[in-house]
Amino acid sequence: MTRLRLFDLPLDVITLDQTLDRLGEWIYRTPRAPHTVVTLNPEFIVQSRTQPDFVTVINQADLVTADGVGIVYAARQLAGTEVPRAPGMDIVRGLMERHGRDLRVFFLGAKPGVAETAAKNAADQYGIQVAGVHHGYFGPEEDQRVAELIRDSGAHLLLTGMGAGRQEIFNQYWRQVLNTPVMIGCGGVIDVLGG
Ligand code: UDP
Repeated sequence: MTRLRLFDLPLDVITLDQTLDRLGEWIYRTPRAPHTVVTLNPEFIVQSRTQPDFVTVINQADLVTADGVGIVYAARQLAGTEVPRAPGMDIVRGLMERHGRDLRVFFLGAKPGVAETAAKNAADQYGIQVAGVHHGYFGPEEDQRVAELIRDSGAHLLLTGMGAGRQEIFNQYWRQVLNTPVMIGCGGVIDVLGG
């Protein structure tokens, strides 16, 4: 897989199908090891200019996909490379479709109550196991407690939807505690699943 540099950030040239294959390998690999996924969009690039810790975390991600067409155009114009889209929403739905009841998912983020609805809808629609849920409005002093809750849930997949930056920093900073095979910063995906 080729990794480009775009605005000082990494971007992997990988299709949605290849992404799902790779995440599937990580999810069921033994012994379990943590991996972080960033779905890059133009807002991240703007925000990263003034947030150095966000840049560091994106650089440490195991996989960085193009979330939308803005990134595809930027890669074409600036790097002369065709980068396929692999949006967060499609990755999440794709994993749930492929793995169904073999997948344990933790839903972290959105306003209180939304993650519960998202989890119920996803369980009804895809047959996934719900490892746990937690809203996304807590301060840094609670990070460790939440990270330990997720670790103890035995989730394969952590969906972290707490806004650009906060979600990627949480996944990367706590990755060793979380020890979740796939952790993805997924923006408004929990809202969509809960809607
Ligand atoms: N969110 C959260 N905690 C926060 C801020 C946002 O859980 O402290 C959730 C919000 O409820 C929504 C998702 O993160 O479900 C994306 O929020 P938003 O679109 O505001 O973030 P962006 O990615 O645009 O920065």
